[in-house]
Amino acid sequence: MIRAENLTKRYGRHVAIDNLTFSTEKGEILGFLGPNGAGKSTTMNIITGYLSASDGKIFVDGLDVLERPEEVKKKIGYLPELPPLYPDMTVIEYLNFVGEIKGTAKADFRSSLEKVLDVVRIGDVRKRLIKNLSKGFKQRVGLAQALIGNPPLLILDEPTIGLDPKEIIEIRNLIKSLGKEHTVVLSSHILPEVSAVCERVLIINRGKIVATDTPKNLSHRLSGKSRLSLRIDGPAREVKSALQAIPGVRDVQVQKSTEESAVDVLLEAEQEKDLRREVFLAMSKAGHPILIMRPMDLSLEDIFLQLTTTEQEVS
Ligand code: ADP
Ligand code: MG
Repeated sequence: MIRAENLTKRYGRHVAIDNLTFSTEKGEILGFLGPNGAGKSTTMNIITGYLSASDGKIFVDGLDVLERPEEVKKKIGYLPELPPLYPDMTVIEYLNFVGEIKGTAKADFRSSLEKVLDVVRIGDVRKRLIKNLSKGFKQRVGLAQALIGNPPLLILDEPTIGLDPKEIIEIRNLIKSLGKEHTVVLSSHILPEVSAVCERVLIINRGKIVATDTPKNLSHRLSGKSRLSLRIDGPAREVKSALQAIPGVRDVQVQKSTEESAVDVLLEAEQEKDLRREVFLAMSKAGHPILIMRPMDLSLEDIFLQLTTTEQEVS
């Protein structure tokens, strides 16, 4: 549905996005995840044709966005970071207005309007002035404007920002249901959001893609068996030094256990190393029975931090 090839955007000498290549399948919900300033909005503005890339190509449904902007815009429903709402219009006046600018045929508009009002559940407030709506309802109106004309591709920039927890859950569920009939690209700087909603995640940091995978695979791929949680019967100091002596061990943290004479250990191996056998043999040799041994997955939070924490923080 979207194909981006080597997209780069410079603002003067500042590189906002740097050589991004990615694509989405039809019907997929893809998440752009990255800290503020990573380049998510810039990328979305380029996909929708509101901004041109300094370099690279972008295609939507096989059409070059630069060469066929009008056709491309008809295929896209866009919810920008700040939805372009007119506070002094009623919901229905505003959606009529959006239909007109989008050039949606009258008959199509009328038939889709009821469906859109229903999907985003704003039928009851259709005659209210937008300025009198709560933040969550304004966001729904923003989504409704993106859905007018039933475009196959939805681009949603931080769709839940500023909402309260209940509204967040409702909007997330709404997006998931929209994913059944549309291809959806959403951006977020919140990890649980993309893992809750998206089938695939593209992690962007400082304008570069640092990882792309399903939320599940990401946490597997980057964690593997590199961390072990252990309970070992033996004195803390001896257990610790015997574990530290195993080649490939990066860090050992020992705590008192709830079990008498035992310690709880968090052992970190060098990237991707599975040290379960070595740990077993070393503890056996040292005469400290292993009571529990369990590989630990890194949480997506850990991975996100690993991928997006850069040298900058050190200096
Ligand atoms: P995100 O949406 O991930 O928070 P943005 O795409 O908004 O990130 O911004 C990416 C980078 O580009 C940031 O460093 C931002 O300061 C810079 N940037 C964005 N828009 C402009 C602009 N109009 N002029 C100069 N720099 C910009
Ligand atoms: Mg942004």
